[in-house]
Amino acid sequence: MGKGKFKDMYLGVDMGGTTVKIGLVTEDGQLFATTTIPTVEYTTESDCAKLAWDLSTFARENLADTLGVYKIAGVGIAIPGVVSKRNPDLLPNIRLNFEMLHNAMSYEFPETNVVYINDANAAGLGELWQGSAVGAESLLYITLGTGIGGALISHGHIITGFNGAAGEIGHLNVLPDGRECGCGGHGCLEQYASAKGVVKSYFEFKAEAGDTSEYEHDPKHPSDSLSVFEAYADGNEYAIRAIQTFSEMLGLALSQAACIFDPHMILLGGGMAGSADVFLPMVVSSYKEHSIKPVRNTEIRKSALGNKSGMIGAAYYALSKNSTWE
Ligand SMILES: [Zn+2]
Repeated sequence: MGKGKFKDMYLGVDMGGTTVKIGLVTEDGQLFATTTIPTVEYTTESDCAKLAWDLSTFARENLADTLGVYKIAGVGIAIPGVVSKRNPDLLPNIRLNFEMLHNAMSYEFPETNVVYINDANAAGLGELWQGSAVGAESLLYITLGTGIGGALISHGHIITGFNGAAGEIGHLNVLPDGRECGCGGHGCLEQYASAKGVVKSYFEFKAEAGDTSEYEHDPKHPSDSLSVFEAYADGNEYAIRAIQTFSEMLGLALSQAACIFDPHMILLGGGMAGSADVFLPMVVSSYKEHSIKPVRNTEIRKSALGNKSGMIGAAYYALSKNSTWE
């Protein structure tokens, strides 16, 4: 390979509530190297500079191993929150000063385009590029984690909405006068179908039954839905009802979303998608029950890339911004 004939490599960064996932992604979507660092508050210049330094060091060290075959052609950063010029401050899950971060990134990557994207949008793009949704004309992607995120993608384009809030399916109302939600509303999907929601349901059903006994699969923290799935496998009745509630509410919300967007495919990702084999048939059945006829057979799948989809999608976003694709 002659001089100046670099191959493009992209840095995909997925900023989560507890860890920042960092991946070098080739232009054909293969993960070349990955690492994670703990998330801190990015509200000072020094913390932002440290993150930018960590990213450039990771890139430099791994690219050095390729003996100059690759160069960084773009950086994509996925952020949990609304990424919009209109609402730059709405970042509920991490503390971040966007301007400070961008200044630090520009300093470490002066020649490189650095782009920012909502984390659910990034994960959806990742699945479209390399995961379960390859070839989908349009996609509704839902992250089921501590909270619920959503992405709408049509013909490769993310639909962000006028205010940057398109796809916020977590706040669809599934139960009038239901549980209070952080958004100020009541009965939002997130209160029943997020990890926290499932744990809430479990303890609510247990309390209703007046059951004060301790059980080995009782959730250990507010978003420990994994324990509820263990209890479900164990035949525990509160867990069964919690997972049924989760599936019913999720299917209902998806059917409402399909009325408006009618996606080619619906994809379920996020931490809870790891238990999709348990709940997917129930979600599909609730979806079919509530949906209008033209969208009744829309396919609902689980994500293929798991927690790598955000990194890969953020890298793809950087790639797409460097090309004539948009
Ligand atoms: Zn809400």
